[in-house]
Amino acid sequence: LCRGKEMTERPSHLFYQGRQRRPVLDQARGVYMWDVDGKRYLDGSSGAMVCNIGHSNENVLEAMRRQMEKSTFGYRLHFETEASENLAAKTAAICPEGLNRVFFVSGGSEAVESAMKLARQYALAIGQEKRWKIISRAPSYHGCTLGALAITSYDPLTKPFDPMMQAMPKVPAPRAYLDGLDPEDEATGHHYADMLEAKILEEGPDSVLAFIVEPVGGASTGALPPPKGYMERVQEICRKHDVLLILDEVMTGAGRTGRFLACDHWKLEPDIIVMSKGFAAGYVPLGAMAAHERLVEAVLDQGGFLHGYTYAGNPLACAAGVAVIDEIERQGLTRNSAVMGKKLMERLRGLMQRYPIIGDVRGMGLLTAFEFMADRGTKAPLPKHLKAFDRFVNIAYDKGLIVYSRRTRNGVEGDHIIIAPPMIVTETHLDEITEMLDTSLA
Ligand code: PMP
Repeated sequence: LCRGKEMTERPSHLFYQGRQRRPVLDQARGVYMWDVDGKRYLDGSSGAMVCNIGHSNENVLEAMRRQMEKSTFGYRLHFETEASENLAAKTAAICPEGLNRVFFVSGGSEAVESAMKLARQYALAIGQEKRWKIISRAPSYHGCTLGALAITSYDPLTKPFDPMMQAMPKVPAPRAYLDGLDPEDEATGHHYADMLEAKILEEGPDSVLAFIVEPVGGASTGALPPPKGYMERVQEICRKHDVLLILDEVMTGAGRTGRFLACDHWKLEPDIIVMSKGFAAGYVPLGAMAAHERLVEAVLDQGGFLHGYTYAGNPLACAAGVAVIDEIERQGLTRNSAVMGKKLMERLRGLMQRYPIIGDVRGMGLLTAFEFMADRGTKAPLPKHLKAFDRFVNIAYDKGLIVYSRRTRNGVEGDHIIIAPPMIVTETHLDEITEMLDTSLA
């Protein structure tokens, strides 16, 4: 698989997670990518839910070229630029009211770290020194830096570093399909949200700073939408106890779930939203934290935000970011994500009828997934030594389809496969994806 021997024996100085080698990328256009041997792949997961507008979009490349010819770097403490001002204004405009102060970073983990620190500094600024705990969900993924990892719950990634991190409280992520509950019943959403309130009371409300949540669970739970009523109730509980609500829209933002931000599905008014991935659609490393002006003003009044990254807000990244948002709007890609997402879900449900190994299908917009199970009745996962998630990725690769896989049960077992192609997909692309999924499953 993946041209086995040849791939593992190619010498390299490069390393990421493991020993597995991948083909060498040559070119990418639209939804397709080609390796140096000329093999074509359909990017069925937009990388890691990143390349939302497809590869090599000419308008974005042109905006980047224009910016590069003017300037590529201006240190944020020395210069603002037209690009950073424009992107901040566009970002504020797409966020719920009040979230009109924007802080740029270079990725999702950095955006999450920024939110954690802004929240803490806000508490200090308003004289609530005791508030420092950030409650998050189990399982969840919020990033790989030690701060973001402390609010992540995904055992293989977090456990080795536990002694180096401040332990933070966790509440169960709603997984109605595993708990035998109906996600369309509001009582289910309230049942899970009420666990947050119980946790806040257990920890002591005046020690709890914030709750961070992915509106649609991404890498950790596999494209899992919240049960009905959950998000609204969570917001109510946060307000009641003066706990800040932070939405991690790193994966769900930029049209991925069929609305520009997933929070628009429930008309939420969080205190902070963090974004990355589709926000720059893979053209540059870029992320953003949009915060309510009340938080930012309080922190700036007290001497300033004690946080920042050297490369943050550089003009090239911001120019690309502006062009990406323009392209999403110009081509109506958010709407296409909603329409094509529904069609993709129908196709995945069709596959589920034919392959008993698929235990669940779910998603929102073009963030969809299926989960392998040994038994649909008991929801038992496949034995973990089978490494079904890895093997499926390799089989699909061989057929020319790129998918994204992780494990739902705190990263230990429960294999899910995320299908999240660029939002420019047409029905013909969906046919192609379905055909390759079908033959891979077979
Ligand atoms: N939050 C969420 C919801 C994510 O999915 C990710 C990345 N998978 C991150 C944060 C971290 O982003 P990055 O990898 O860009 O640091």
